[in-house]
Amino acid sequence: MVQFSFTAAESVLLGVERAKELLRHKYPFARLEDIFAEALKALLERIDPDRRHPPARAAAIPAQAPKTRNIPAAVKAEVWRRDAGACAFVGPAGRCGTRAFLEYDHVVPWALGGTPDDPGNIRLLCRAHNRCEARRVLG
Ligand SMILES: [Zn+2]
Repeated sequence: MVQFSFTAAESVLLGVERAKELLRHKYPFARLEDIFAEALKALLERIDPDRRHPPARAAAIPAQAPKTRNIPAAVKAEVWRRDAGACAFVGPAGRCGTRAFLEYDHVVPWALGGTPDDPGNIRLLCRAHNRCEARRVLG
């Protein structure tokens, strides 16, 4: 168990009280920890890429040649799963593994003929490694 303690704006209190009202049927005692757990769950379902790319949601990857550098959603989902939602850069110290500020990187840049619809040409990189690789490849 962990204990949280913080000071917040009155608007947060109003939000907590409204959430307690809305969740009264589920949590008759409206314990603060239950309300926060529900709020956190709802937030992560909305913003956490791990939850946006669940394994069962893999869609077919289109077979036609790409006309844009945009990476299809199905490719993004496959790459996200393959790279486990973490930076795939491997350096002398091993894999980076950062899980924040991730970007989809074309291994062979689109400008140099790399295709955006081949998961083998796309990888997850953190912002720092994506910039580093862009400088290395494109100069
Ligand atoms: Zn990285």
